[in-house]
Amino acid sequence: MTPQRRAIIQVLLDDHFHPTAEQVLTRVRNVMPDLSPATVYNTLHELEEIGMVQGLDLGLGERHYDIDTGHHAHLVCIGCGRVEDVPYDTSSTPLLPEHTHGFQVVDCNIIFRGYCPACSSR
Ligand SMILES: [Zn+2]
Ligand SMILES: [Zn+2]
Repeated sequence: MTPQRRAIIQVLLDDHFHPTAEQVLTRVRNVMPDLSPATVYNTLHELEEIGMVQGLDLGLGERHYDIDTGHHAHLVCIGCGRVEDVPYDTSSTPLLPEHTHGFQVVDCNIIFRGYCPACSSR
């Protein structure tokens, strides 16, 4: 475990806000000002490869990183981009066997999009 890796994991753990690579970079630079963007991007990629982090396409245009690789769904605000976890057993796939077209389903991402309380009251 390199210091860079540890710092990046710490950012993801500290405030579980599903950051983009750029947001990780900004935060990690508070503790390691010399860290290059390439190192941060590569490390995130490596962590994803080894399954310590999951990369998510939340429909917001950028890849978001989640330290929680367990089964859960996401609530995404299309107003402000806020992301929240929802306990949800995505392993019990909602697809019926006759609807999988012979695919062996190994993963399932469930994303609920809408407006958070702050945005919907605006
Ligand atoms: Zn919002
Ligand atoms: Zn999550």
